[in-house]
Amino acid sequence: MTGVIYHELFGKHLEGYQHVESPGRYAAVMERLRNCGVTEHLSFVEAQPARPEWIEAVHDHDFVNGILSMEVDSSVVLDWGDTVATKFTQQAAILSAGAGVQAAEKVLNGELDSVFCAVRPPGHHAERDRAMGFCIFNNIAIAAAWLLGEGGLGRVAIVDWDIHHGNGTERIFIEDDRLLYISLHQYPHYPGTGHENTTGIGKGDGFTLNIPVGVGSGDAMYLNKFDNVVVPALDKFEPEFILISAGFDGHSDDPLSGGLLTSGVFGEMTRRLMDVADRHCGGKIVSLMEGGYNLDALADSIEVHVTTLAVGGSINTDSGRKE
Ligand SMILES: [Zn+2]
Repeated sequence: MTGVIYHELFGKHLEGYQHVESPGRYAAVMERLRNCGVTEHLSFVEAQPARPEWIEAVHDHDFVNGILSMEVDSSVVLDWGDTVATKFTQQAAILSAGAGVQAAEKVLNGELDSVFCAVRPPGHHAERDRAMGFCIFNNIAIAAAWLLGEGGLGRVAIVDWDIHHGNGTERIFIEDDRLLYISLHQYPHYPGTGHENTTGIGKGDGFTLNIPVGVGSGDAMYLNKFDNVVVPALDKFEPEFILISAGFDGHSDDPLSGGLLTSGVFGEMTRRLMDVADRHCGGKIVSLMEGGYNLDALADSIEVHVTTLAVGGSINTDSGRKE
């Protein structure tokens, strides 16, 4: 059974504030997942808040304290004007961080086979000591740190296919040889990091794999990188758990980037990661929503992704509608 972690407050963050990372994203995704062809194969689970120690495993205490203690009357700008908090943001951020750990725990103990977390705010740009790029807490890094700590694992892989480089995730684990971070991203592009020469530091050298792609990269380029770089790297690492930073802003209809992906390729990439997970870790996969800003493209792509997680992609969707 595949889980979908949700919470009403994921649709309240930035409510009433004009922003591309809008509450409508959550509404579109949940509407689709509750009415898609595989709903009977999905288990909908309400998110639980993260414990402070989970968050502080990857973020500085003062930063976390600052976020949690700030007074938000209407809105507060956290970073360069593009990361904003409104009335329910603090609760949504704690729940987004909690969702990843909750998902990881349920898959680790066999309660669920895989989980998609429909979280907002997203996380992969958030650094140890600051919010950035619409992200407040680094949800996927928190889940990975939990797996490597309380979860007792020794090797966790994060595959980040959001069109933007996950600078925060990379930085948090740059010296860690227990975490393989693999990112495919448009380059050069926001946030400016993700050069292929960045491979890790110290004993973490070789455990960061950046795969920059040019503007206009489509399905064929991505699948080529998956088959020739991503999958072989994962097979070599032999992960005990795979986490996906699932951003869908590489879609051809997305307003923020120059990717030319179809919704169908998200199923193809998911299938490949499921095969790797089957080979090395009993299929253990947890996916967390990152970007994706065209509501129809986001819902289409997530339907394909979650359908693939749930039933291996055998139910036909509108994948490939934009060849
Ligand atoms: Zn993105």
